[in-house]
Formats: sequence, structure tokens, C-alpha cells
Amino acid sequence: MSIEIKPSVCPYDCPDTCSLLVEVKNGRAVRVAGDPEHPFTRGALCAKMAHYERTVHSSQRLTQPLLRTGPKGTGAFRPVTWTEAISLIADRWREISSTYGSAAILPFSYAGTMGIVQRNAGHALFHRLGASRLNRTICSSAKEYGWKAVLGNTQVMHPDEVIESDLVILWSINALVTNIHFLHGVREAKKRGATVWLIDTYETPTAQLADRVFLTRPGSDGALALGLMHILARDGLVDQAFIESCVQGYPELEDAILPDYPPEAVSRITGLSTETIEEMARSYAQARAPFIRLGSGLSRYGNGAMAVRTIACLPALVGAWTKPGGGIMGNIATGACLDTTLITREDLQAKPTRLVNINQLGSALTELQDPPLMSLYVYHCNPAAVVPDQNKVLAGLSREDLFTVVHERFMTDTALYADIILPATTSLEHSDIYRSYGHYGIQRVFPAIFPVGEAKPNWEVFCLLAKAMGFDEQVFEQTTDDLIDELLAKPSAWLTASDLTKIRAGQSIQLPLPSDYKTVYKTPSGKIEILNPAEDPPLPCYFEPHGDDAPFWLSTAPYLPLLNSSFNERDDLLENQRMTLQMNPADATAKGLTDGARAVAFNTRGEVTFILKVSAKVPPGVVVAEGVWWLKNAPGDRSINALTSQRLTDKAAASTFYDTKVDVRAE
Ligand code: SF4
Repeated sequence: MSIEIKPSVCPYDCPDTCSLLVEVKNGRAVRVAGDPEHPFTRGALCAKMAHYERTVHSSQRLTQPLLRTGPKGTGAFRPVTWTEAISLIADRWREISSTYGSAAILPFSYAGTMGIVQRNAGHALFHRLGASRLNRTICSSAKEYGWKAVLGNTQVMHPDEVIESDLVILWSINALVTNIHFLHGVREAKKRGATVWLIDTYETPTAQLADRVFLTRPGSDGALALGLMHILARDGLVDQAFIESCVQGYPELEDAILPDYPPEAVSRITGLSTETIEEMARSYAQARAPFIRLGSGLSRYGNGAMAVRTIACLPALVGAWTKPGGGIMGNIATGACLDTTLITREDLQAKPTRLVNINQLGSALTELQDPPLMSLYVYHCNPAAVVPDQNKVLAGLSREDLFTVVHERFMTDTALYADIILPATTSLEHSDIYRSYGHYGIQRVFPAIFPVGEAKPNWEVFCLLAKAMGFDEQVFEQTTDDLIDELLAKPSAWLTASDLTKIRAGQSIQLPLPSDYKTVYKTPSGKIEILNPAEDPPLPCYFEPHGDDAPFWLSTAPYLPLLNSSFNERDDLLENQRMTLQMNPADATAKGLTDGARAVAFNTRGEVTFILKVSAKVPPGVVVAEGVWWLKNAPGDRSINALTSQRLTDKAAASTFYDTKVDVRAE
């Protein structure tokens, strides 16, 4: 049998959104490669996806529906048919709705797949049902809030502009792990003579690309930005002409805020020396076209939205926006190109129902609610591992009276607590359409292979459940491809007829950007809003993160072999890897801990056992734990999120994963 090559897209929560070429033989994916024609990802894949076929055809795939037969969490299940599983779920939901109201049911999902249809597939059903709604603020909402406070809906810089920069600042982004294709442009810029800085809380693997590494105290990034602006103002290094024509509120910032952030004060907050802060400010001002690539880590502190807002002001002071290669790049928003309300169907809600914050699932399941949460439907998500305060989440999932359904590809930590498990397709087994948040690409995909075993995609399962619940809206009769066709049939201000034709046919396209996109500011004033009268406070400022009463900041960092908790099924990726806690040599000595020893990190929320890795790349007072590990792959009985808290950010009710302190002891 010959090999067929089928185009696809990486479905994971990564800004690169790589285009794939899948080799299929005898109905099996036998090789997955990057598409060399893709203008941003250029045929390269990360190590995780280079053998995606091992995930797709893993012997650990769930291939049939399962019904729990033993205590929750023990993995005791027996197979049932799809018909039985669907009718059991519908019966329980009817019972729960009539006793407690439908708001006692909570859908739970995030970004296990980034496809527009499968990711949002549950919304129509749960809106129609009147279930509680999930406020999905676990990842980037504080970052987006801070960004919008200054730049509104201004188009985000194209990543390839970095090539033209002479000073690239990677700020709180471990791009070698989380945004590898962006580094192509960074390397090109370096070849042309650019200097690269890394600003982070420890020396991440990305440091190997940087000419200078600046390690700041966790949660202090906003203060550093104010300190840099103080020096720019003090030394007359600002671009007055740009400020006068394009910026709102610089004089107010200069008068009311910047005097409080001289280098001495900022040094005390950030841990950087005054000389370093002075040098950074001068270099930033002197750069021809400074480019800041803003990561997400710094937005996951209690002051995260304000930190992003403050840093977003910096390029305006030096007029970086007017220079090719100058500015700041956050997450790219392309939502305006397609009308996704056709999928999310808010119109099916009789009225808006209770909103449960995704970061506070533990409390929602274990504390008194009105009505109580009596059923959880989890799809492409693993809350037992990925949401904060794991001990509370596991206590909630253990409740015998909680009816939990998990639609998954693998027996995750969450699936172990399900009453019913439904087997899910991988991205190679269903249709979808993908947009990126790290470049301007968009691509539709069709299935490359038939579903493995009895696996079904999200949309198909929600249509089966809708039918079983007696919902007869026409949307539940549609297939995924019908929905995508409908999306692409709607005229879009951003997509030409020829773009739409290409997308329909499965070709990848890049959304076009107008030539003046960096100098047209889509804010209420039409200017960059350093002063934003709609905000409280109207000017950027600095305040401390939450912290805990413990000696070490804990960085819950990304990890090359894993993506959140995905890829834990891949023994080949985790071979010779261990769940480590990295600690500075002086701190390890003071604690009597040695490299390779078992060590326990603990705080008021929990205790987690790690293998200690002594490393000078981590500054004193900080410990680093990379990756979200499944419990079966962890050295002890808990993983990283037993230490993180349900506290929220200053704005946008986002997660504060990095705003965590711990103490450490030998096991
Ligand atoms: S995880 Fe990111 S880098 Fe890796 S293949 Fe997917 S999109 Fe590309």
C-alpha cells in the first residue's frame, strides 16, 4: 500500500500552530513532519510533535466508553457501549436538573485542542441546557487585559518584524520551549548584529541565545519597567515628537508616578543593581528599533495585569512603534477574522447562568454553592493536574455524589475520577479549523485517518448528548464540516474571497496586515493610552504580588518534553527525565540538600516530592519546577499544582501560578 501525505495542524496550546504533513499508510499515521512551505514554521517541529504518531497510535489510548466499577481514583472501570454511556449521562443530567436545576452541571475545558470547532464544541449544548458557565481565565486573560488597557485593539506586531530589530528583549518568555519558531527571526536579527536580552526569574534554556541575561525578583517586572521609564524621563531620552502626537498621559505619568521609581528604589524591588538598571535604560533608548517579545509568565502574579500594562507603555516613550522592527509583541488576536458565535451559540441561553472561575474549581467542588455542583463534564482538559490547589480539586473529584464525565484520549489524573469515560479522537481523526496566537496563519484540516477504536470527536459527542436530552435545534444536526463551511461562508472584513477559497480547500493562509498597522492605535482616544481614564487606577503603578509566608519563590515553569499536562503518555519523551526541583547551590547547602536527593516543597496548601537538582542557573531564594506531570510519573503522590493557589490576578480574574512561595525540606 502506498503512502499518502495529508496536511494537518498541530492542535496543542502553543503560539506556533505548526502546519503538519502526515504520512498515512494502511490507515495509520506512520510519520508526522512539519510543512516546509509554511512561512512561519518552515517545516520544523518541536520534539514532542516530531513523533505525534506515537501519541495517536499509543497503546495507552482509550478506545471505548468506560463505566466506573470501583472507588473514585482507583481506575476500576468496565466497557460499555456508546448508546449506554450517552443514555446514562442524559438520565443523570435530567435527574440533577429536576432536583437542583441545570446550573448544578458544570462543563470544564480549556485548550487541550486549539481547533475552533472542537475546542468550543460544548458551548451550544451547555447553553441550551442552562448549565453553569466556566470562566476560562487560566492562561492569558490578565495579559490581554493589561495589553488592552494601553493599546486597545491595536494590531499586534508581526513576529517576523523582529528580524529588523537591533535590540530584541525576550521578557518572561522561555521561547526555546514555548515559541521555538519565533527564534528563527531572533537568530536572523542576531546575524544582522542585533543584541538579545533575556529578562526572567531564572536562567532558562533560552538564555543560551541571549547576549545578556537579567534575573529579576519574581513579580517585580512592572517595577523594572517604571524604573526604566524613570531614567528615560530623567535623562531626556524620550521621543517627544512621538509622545505629543501619539501618546495620551505621558506628562501625568512623568509627574505623578515616575518620581517614585528611581534606580535605588527599583534595585531594592527587582534585585538588579542600579548600574544595571541605568545601563538597560540607556541601551533601550539608544537602540534603533527595540523589539519586546512579551511572554505570559509575568502576568501570572497577583499584579500580573498591571505588570503587562506598565511594560506595554515602554515602546511609546522612545517612539519604537515608528521604526521597522520596533515595538512590543504580545499574543496575536485574530478573532475578528471569523464569526465564531456560530459555534459558541450564546443565543441558546435562556438567561446567563452562574459563572465558575476555572482557577477555583477546588472551592467550587468542595464548598457550599447554590445550587451545589453535582455534575462535571470534562473535555480535552485535565483539571486534576493543571488547575491550582490540587488537593482541593482532588477532594472535590472524590465526592461520591459528584457525577463526573471525562471525554479524553488517555487515562489522565482526572479520568481516574470519572463515573463515565468517553474515548476522544486526536486531531488527526477529526476536522477542524485553526488560528494561531503567535503568527497570522489560519488553516482548515480534514481527518487524516479514521478514529482509533471507538473514539469520537467533541462535536459529535455533544450532538449525541443534545439528541438524548431532546434538544432539536438545527445546529445539533450539523457536522463539524457543516459548521466550518458555514463559518467560511460568512463574509469577513479581514479575509478576501480568494483567501476563503484557499481555506475551504485546506490551504494555510496568512492574514494580511495593512502597512500602517503599527501606527493606527485602536483605542478610545486613538492614541497609546498611558493614561487610561476608564481604568482604576488611570495610570500604571507598581504593587507587590500576593506571595506566601514562606522563604522560596516557586517558578512553575514550562518544560520541553511536556505541554501543560499533555504528552505525559509518551514514555519516549520522558525516558531519563525526572520531576525535579531546581535550587541554587547556596540554598541547597543551607538546607542540607544534595543533588539527586528527594526533597519536599511545601506550603499551607500542600506538599510535593521532587528530585532535587542543584543549579547555579537559579538565583538564591527561588526554586524552579518545570512541567505539569501526571501523578503516576511523579516521585510522590502530588504534582506541582498542590502548591499553587486559587488566588486571582488584579484584573481579569486570571490564574496566579507563579505567585507561589514554598519552603523545602529533605524527604
Ligand atoms: S507544540 Fe508548538 S512547536 Fe510543537 S509542533 Fe505544536 S505548534 Fe509546533
